Amino acid sequence: SLDLDTSTDGVLTADTHLVQSFADLNALKQDGARTVIVGAEGAYVTDSEGNQLIDGIGGLWCVNAGHRRREIIDAITEQLETLDFYSTFYNFTHPAAAGLAAKLAELAPGHLNKVHFGNSGSVANDSAIRILHHYYNRLGQPKKKQVLSRQGAYHGSTYLAIAMTTPEYSEGWDKAEGLIHHLKKPHHWREGEGMSEAEFLDALIADAKGRIEAIGAENIACFIAEPIMGAGGIIVPPKGYHAAMGALCRDYEIKYISDEVVTAFGRLGHFFASKDVFDVQPDIITTAKGLTSGYQPLSATIMSDEIYEVISGESGSFLHGMTYSGHPAAAAAGLANIALMERDQIPQTVRTTGKLFEGKLRDLADMDMVGEVRGSHFMMGIEFVRDKAAKTPFEVEDMIGLKVAQAAQKRGLIARPLGNILILSPTLVMDEAMIDTTAGILCESIAEVQ
Ligand code: PLP
Repeated sequence: SLDLDTSTDGVLTADTHLVQSFADLNALKQDGARTVIVGAEGAYVTDSEGNQLIDGIGGLWCVNAGHRRREIIDAITEQLETLDFYSTFYNFTHPAAAGLAAKLAELAPGHLNKVHFGNSGSVANDSAIRILHHYYNRLGQPKKKQVLSRQGAYHGSTYLAIAMTTPEYSEGWDKAEGLIHHLKKPHHWREGEGMSEAEFLDALIADAKGRIEAIGAENIACFIAEPIMGAGGIIVPPKGYHAAMGALCRDYEIKYISDEVVTAFGRLGHFFASKDVFDVQPDIITTAKGLTSGYQPLSATIMSDEIYEVISGESGSFLHGMTYSGHPAAAAAGLANIALMERDQIPQTVRTTGKLFEGKLRDLADMDMVGEVRGSHFMMGIEFVRDKAAKTPFEVEDMIGLKVAQAAQKRGLIARPLGNILILSPTLVMDEAMIDTTAGILCESIAEVQ
């Protein structure tokens, strides 16, 4: 049981001054209703009313090892007591950052052996693009700068990362123009009407090829893709998609960036999903979130030896980095998190428990209001429809995802609404009983709303 100070005095002050992310600020201003999370343990969090809730979104797809793991907390504390801060600028380094880089090189597939640290997934993706632009400058190909992304993608919310993200995420906002091209969303159920999955795949690859030829491969630096799209609605591409896109990129000498901010560190049953699950060898992997299980802000841009050889091949400063790149406490958290995952075999366990979770959620597909249940292991989405046969979407005003999420929260589960979709990305320490409870709550909540 948790011994928490649930006084809300401090929170009320913070409410007045805190600008929240991805929230309707006007609605918050009007009714002020917030869920105040004051504590956590394992797969659960506690709110200021004393309710214990299953953390069905793992903080924000990140608390992979579960909340308040002693090993990670101790490693952070010990690190701070030894060396609170030093940077990795110039010729300075420290054991935690160097050690974590070596560990990531060991875990990442193929020749991805060089790691630059940042402090968020957005920054990891911005770094990947900046590094590739510099790489092509060094190769004497200064025109090779355009980026292929996809409709439905989410790559973060810094100025460059939001431009790579699907356009719906910047409605009413400005973004960097002229650099990013969005290829088709690889969602068979919605976009591949009348086609088999294999035909849909062929159509996607043919479309990508056409776009590359129209832009000119000599102008394209890279293709960036999440193995499974997350915040775009949990889109699992058709079988063979990433391998085929990888081959296309190789043919046209376009670098392949795999955005594994969500899919790494056990969420799909492996430390990294690109090679092990989707059979593609990226030139760069970006990751964050589960890297420290969210205990510290940390991201990594893991690049191939070949890219590193070019950017380090002649003298001249590498003009990129953040003060907190490889922060000692964050790197120590990453090392402890990975050690814990290896010791407890979390990725291996997820191959069983994650599949169980996936199966239980798929059972909800028979419900009237459920159009599609999709995803893999502990990365799942449920799309609600007004008319099941016609796949008619609900209107935005129906706020259907929100209604189901509220019904679930009342019953002890936090899930994340995203328009007509409900997203589940829990901690990876859910046991069979918790998985049953979660599926039961979802079933009741959907039944209440439909
Ligand atoms: N890439 C993916 C696939 C993400 O899901 C996210 C965040 O949800 C990001 C990048 C951005 O990461 P951050 O919010 O840490 O900047």
